[in-house]
Amino acid sequence: MTHRIVLLGAPGAGKGTQAVRLADRFQIPAISTGELFRQHMSRGSELGKLAANYINDGNLVPDEITVWMVRDRFRREDVQGGFLLDGFPRTVAQADALDEMLGENGLTAVVELWVDVEEVIPRLIGRAATEGRSDDTAEVVRQRIRVYREQTKPLHEFYVGQGILREINAVGEIDQITERIVAVLER
Ligand code: AMP
Repeated sequence: MTHRIVLLGAPGAGKGTQAVRLADRFQIPAISTGELFRQHMSRGSELGKLAANYINDGNLVPDEITVWMVRDRFRREDVQGGFLLDGFPRTVAQADALDEMLGENGLTAVVELWVDVEEVIPRLIGRAATEGRSDDTAEVVRQRIRVYREQTKPLHEFYVGQGILREINAVGEIDQITERIVAVLER
C-alpha cells in the first residue's frame, strides 16, 4: 500500500513528532516545509533570506515561494514510493497546486490532528528554549495561531470535499496517537 499523506493540524498539535514516527513506520520520506525553510535560513540561501521575515513574524511564506520549494523537493526519486507532508499545504492555493503536482497519483489520506489550541500555547512557547526556534515567542505564537485559523483551517472543508480527510484526536500519549493514526491509515 502506497501512502501519500498530508498531516494537518494547528501549531503545536504534534505534526512534526508524528511525521517522523509515521515516516519511519511506513518507510517513506517526511517532508516538512518548516524544516526545509529552516535549512535554507541556516545556509543563508536566497530562499532562506526571502522566507525569514515571514517566518519570524509568524506569517506564512508566500504561496509561490513555498510551492516552488515543494515542487523542487518532489523532483527527488524518494517520493515515488510515497511520502508524508508535514506543514504543507497551509492554504487552499497550495492545496490546489499540490493536486496539480501529483496528477493521477493523488493523496491517499489527509490526517487532521485535533488538539485544544489554548492548551498547546504554553507548549509552543516552551519550545523556543529546547529547539532554539526563532518563531516561538508568545507574540509570534499567537500570530501563527491566527494565521492557522484564517488561512489553513479552510483546508478541512477542502479535503472533506475530496472525501480523504481523517480526523484524529491528538490529545494523549505520543505512542497512542501514532497508533491511532496508523489504525486509520491501514483501514
Ligand atoms: P512549521 O515548522 O511547520 O511550524 O513552520 C514554521 C514556519 O515556516 C511557519 O510558521 C511559516 O512561517 C513557514 N511555513 C512552513 N510551511 C509553510 C507553508 N506550507 N506555507 C507557508 N509558510 C510555511
